[in-house]
Amino acid sequence: MLKPLSEKQQNPAIMPSIFSLELSDLENWLSEIKEPKFRAAQIYNWLYEKRVTSFEEMTNLPKGLREKLEETYHIHPMKEVARQESSDGTIKFLFELQDGYSIETVLMRHDYGNSVCVTTQVGCRLGCTFCASTLGGLKRNLLAGEIVSQVLQVQRALDATEERVSSIVIMGIGEPFDNYDGLIKFLKVVNHDKGLNIGARHITVSTSGIVPYIYKFADEGMQINFAVSLHAPNTEIRSKLMPVNRMYPMNELMDSIRYYIKKTGRRVSFEYGLFGGVNDQVEHAEELADLIKSVKCHVNLIPVNYVPERDYVRTPKNQIFKFLETLKKRGVNATLRREQGHDIDAACGQLRAKERQEETR
Ligand code: SAH
Repeated sequence: MLKPLSEKQQNPAIMPSIFSLELSDLENWLSEIKEPKFRAAQIYNWLYEKRVTSFEEMTNLPKGLREKLEETYHIHPMKEVARQESSDGTIKFLFELQDGYSIETVLMRHDYGNSVCVTTQVGCRLGCTFCASTLGGLKRNLLAGEIVSQVLQVQRALDATEERVSSIVIMGIGEPFDNYDGLIKFLKVVNHDKGLNIGARHITVSTSGIVPYIYKFADEGMQINFAVSLHAPNTEIRSKLMPVNRMYPMNELMDSIRYYIKKTGRRVSFEYGLFGGVNDQVEHAEELADLIKSVKCHVNLIPVNYVPERDYVRTPKNQIFKFLETLKKRGVNATLRREQGHDIDAACGQLRAKERQEETR
C-alpha cells in the first residue's frame, strides 16, 4: 500500500476554499450559522453563473452573511504567474496558490470544444521515470476547491469571447487517486447542474494505477471517462518505467480494470507512451495486444514528450505507425494522440519545473 500522506500534505495550513463545497455542504454550513437554506443556491449562482471573485459582489445576501463568508472561506482567484500560448491555441497557465506553491493548468482547443487539463497535487510522489511532475516529489494535495478554481479561471478567460469550457481532463500534475477525496468533491462540484454543469461523459480522469482506488472508483457509480497510464506490455517493463507497478503489479491492475468494466459497463482508455527502444517495438505491440485483447478498451498512443531531466528518446514516425498498425491488425482499438502545444512547455510539469526551480528540486 502507498504510505499515508503526512498531515501537511493532506491538510495544508491555508484557508478553506468556497469552491470545495457541494451545494449540500453549503446548505449544512448555512444551517449551522442559522441562515436559511435557500441562500446556498444564491451563493452558487454568484460563484458559477456570474463567476464573481469576491463575496462583496453578492449583493442579494445580507451584509452579515457576506462578512461571515469572508471570515470563513477563500474566494480570491489564483495569481497567474505565467502564461504560454501556442500557435495551435493551446494555453498553459501557471497559477500561484495561497501558500505560494505553483500549479499548471492547460486549455486545449479542439474542433469539438474547449478542454481544460487540471492539476490535482503540488508535485507527485509516484516517481514515473519519464515524467516532469514528479521532480521534487509531492508538496501537498490540492483542496477540491483549488481544482475547481482552475476550471473557473480558464472559464473566466474564455468569457471574454463568450466561449465555454466543454470538457475536463484530469491529467495535469499529480496522481488524482492519491488525492481521492479531493478528486471526488471536485467532480461533484463541476458536474452539478447548479455548479459548472459539465457532464460526466465530458470529464476524464487518468490514473497511474493505484489499484484499491480503482475498485473504489468503480463503486462510485459515476459516468466519468476513465483512463489508465499503462505504458508497458508486461510487468517487467512497467516496473522500470513506473515504480507504482512494484506496489500494484500488472496482473492486479488488470483485475481491477476488469472489475471496473464489469461494474460500470463502460470501456477504459489505456495511455501508452512510446519511449524509444524501451517499449516501442513491434513485439511490444504484439504483447500489448495479447494483454488487453479481452478488455473493453481503447489505446491512446503518446509519443514521448522530451523532458530535459529525463533521457528518453522519441520513437521515429514510421516506427510509431508500425506499432499502431500492429495493434489494429490484432483487433485493438487504437489511435495516436494528436499533439498540442508542441511549441510551449505543455507536457505535465514542464512549465512549473522551468519557472519554479526551487520547488522541483
Ligand atoms: N498521474 C496520472 C495523471 C497524469 S496524466 C496518471 O499517471 O495517469 C498525464 C499522462 O501523461 C500520463 O499518462 C503520464 O504517464 C503521461 N506522461 C507524463 N510524462 C510524459 C512524457 N514525458 N511523455 C509522454 N507522456 C507522459
